[in-house]
Amino acid sequence: MGRYSYSSKSEADSLKSVSVYWLNKYKYLEPGYTKSGGIVWTRSNGSKNDIRICVSIPDLYVQFKYIQTDRETGEKKDFDYKIPLITSVCHFGGIRYWFKCSMYKSGKFCGRRVATVYKDGDYFACRHCYDLTYSSKKENYKGFFGMLTKLIYEEKRMEAIRDSLKRKTYAGRPTKKVRRFLRLASHHPEKVHELIDQNIYRAR
Ligand SMILES: [Zn+2]
Repeated sequence: MGRYSYSSKSEADSLKSVSVYWLNKYKYLEPGYTKSGGIVWTRSNGSKNDIRICVSIPDLYVQFKYIQTDRETGEKKDFDYKIPLITSVCHFGGIRYWFKCSMYKSGKFCGRRVATVYKDGDYFACRHCYDLTYSSKKENYKGFFGMLTKLIYEEKRMEAIRDSLKRKTYAGRPTKKVRRFLRLASHHPEKVHELIDQNIYRAR
């Protein structure tokens, strides 16, 4: 994908995002399949944004295709690029998918393993690349955008726990940290993503 650098902070409530939970829900992560489809975001003022995606499980990527109109010049630009998927094995069986963020920020490749990519510039990339941070007073979790804030917060906690995992089992049982991670991973994001789905996503 193209090189792109970005530095200022953004509000998450104006963002488009795609998560592995959403891909899973709409059956894009079926073993052996390559599936194409679209995502439409409808804003409260009725304006729509849509993208095409193609998810290949054999080749482990998500292809993003969309046309973007420059607000100032009115010029239309085609985007067509892939973000690799990576897998991890769940402790209790099954495979978990992640995006491997492929953004270059200030000339440095990101490569982070994340569950959600956001679009806050030309490309979809992880929240680290777009500096999606929140002040504590914004974290009141009310309403839909509060839920989005919470999702990013939970994602941050999950990643922190995951990155700090040294051993996954002790005496044949998952360690306390692993259990905490699994708890967050298995309950929270899905729940929040479900709410996000109901609010902005419409599968075609
Ligand atoms: Zn990134």
